[in-house]
Formats: sequence, structure tokens, C-alpha cells
Amino acid sequence: MEVLTTKSDMRAFGAALRKVGRSQALVPTMGALHEGHLSLVRRAGAEADATVVSIFVNPTQFGPEEDFSRYPRDMERDLELCRAEGAAAIFAPSAEEMYVGKPTTFVGEEVLASGLCGAFRPGHFRGVLTVVAKLFHVVQPDVAVFGRKDLQQARLIEQMVRDLDFPVRICTAPTVREDDGLAMSSRNRYLDPAERKSALSLYESLGCAQRVYNEGERDPKVIERMIREQVSPTGGVELEYVEIVSYDTLKPVQRVEKGTVVALAARVGNTRLIDNVVLGGAL
Ligand code: AMP
Repeated sequence: MEVLTTKSDMRAFGAALRKVGRSQALVPTMGALHEGHLSLVRRAGAEADATVVSIFVNPTQFGPEEDFSRYPRDMERDLELCRAEGAAAIFAPSAEEMYVGKPTTFVGEEVLASGLCGAFRPGHFRGVLTVVAKLFHVVQPDVAVFGRKDLQQARLIEQMVRDLDFPVRICTAPTVREDDGLAMSSRNRYLDPAERKSALSLYESLGCAQRVYNEGERDPKVIERMIREQVSPTGGVELEYVEIVSYDTLKPVQRVEKGTVVALAARVGNTRLIDNVVLGGAL
């Protein structure tokens, strides 16, 4: 497995693969890898001949009050995990390498990015789309794999690729959960045992939404109320939003149908967690 830290080395690696007709899959990550990330690496392996995993804690997607400086970093362990999964290369540039000088050009999306997490994290998706666009230009993958855990992000990247004609196919993969159901996240390691226990109410509330949908409930207001009742602030979990939206538009629906998304974000202590469920599909 190659470990590449400059854009020119990454480009040369990709060019050499293309020359011999081998396809490439990219899995963009911010490191501190867990089973969720590794499921994407496996999916990438099934989609292309060679897998590149990028590991880059992207400063432009963090707000000034957010956790950029304390975001978990564990490069040695990440490299071991990727090696064990058979990745062909790791692209791990420094921030100075990725952003030469002070950039003044960004990629922004003007409709889908405004709601859900976008409403609470100004500039976040602009940072995400900008870095993903840069990664697509540097790596030039045939396919890129994203997790549906970050559902708005995945939807925005699909839109960016369509709107700006990036020659890359986007795959999305299901959310990987801990044994008790908590969605895996690099930020879960911030939780103390009591918070970890409380955070489970997020998963449980989405499980209830799925169950009542399966039993025939189609009114989004009823499902939303039920979730709000289940996630109680007395347990230390403060909902930032819960919304019942169409995957296509990310706008609230009047009536729930198969494929409708229930998305939520919450603060558990100082930690911000997100989760979602696609109704009529797997949790
Ligand atoms: P991150 O390192 O948090 O930026 O995530 C990198 C990629 O891994 C994104 O496409 C995420 O959606 C995906 N991802 C994160 N957590 C999970 C999970 N629990 N299951 C599946 N994919 C995930």
C-alpha cells in the first residue's frame, strides 16, 4: 500500500493505474477509522480494481466553534486498518498541501444545503463540497463511495457531480451500527459512559419511526412527535432538529412513503451526533 502525501504523487499514482487500464475507487474520510469507514473500503474494492482512501481532516468544513483541533487523529492505526482491507493507496496530504495559499474559490450548493445540518453549520457543506471537488480532481476516481450516515452530504455530492459534470460515479452505502444500534461515528469516542447510554435513544426513536411506518402510519407530524417524545432532554440528549424529508429534495413531506427519510441531529453533552433512517428500508 502506497502512502502519498502530495497532490503530484497522488496524480502520478492514478495516472499509472489508468495507463494499464485499472479502475480506481475513492473513499474520502477524515480518519479515526471505524467499521463504518471500512465497510466503504470493502464496497470500493467491489466497485473498482484499486481503492484509494483519503485521510484528511478538512479545516474548511469546521466552524470556528467546532471540534477541528480536537477531532481524533490516529494515522498509524488508520494505515494498518486500510492495509488489512487491501487498499492500494492512502492519500493523506497536510492542510498546507491541500490548500495552497489562501483559497478564494469554493463550491457551494444553493438549495439542498440550506436545510437540515446546513441550517446549523453555516459554511459546512461549502467546505465539504470544495474538498471533495478537489479530491475528485486530484485522484480522478472512476467511482467514489460515501456513507448514508451523512445523508445530506451524500445527496449534495450526487447533486454536485450531476450539476458540474464530474466524470465519477457515486455509490452510497448503508450506516454501520454498534451492536446496540448506535450509528458508528469518529465522534462517539467523545462520549462518556452515561452520554453513550443516552445517545442510544436516537437510534431507538428512529427504530420506532420505522416500526410505526411498517404498521401503516403515514402522517409525518405523528412520527415527528413520537421521536421528540422518545428523545428526552432529561436524559441529556438535546435534539437540534428532526425532519421527515424526501431524499430527492431534502424538503419536508406532507405524507410519508417508502423511501422517505427521517433525519435528526442532537447534542449529547458537548458532542453533536447525527443519524437517519430511510422508511421502508433497513435502519
Ligand atoms: P468522516 O470520516 O466522518 O468524514 O466519514 C467518511 C465517510 O464515512 C463518509 O462518507 C461517511 O458518511 C462515512 N461513514 C461515517 N460513519 C459511517 C457509518 N457508521 N456507516 C457508514 N458510513 C459511515
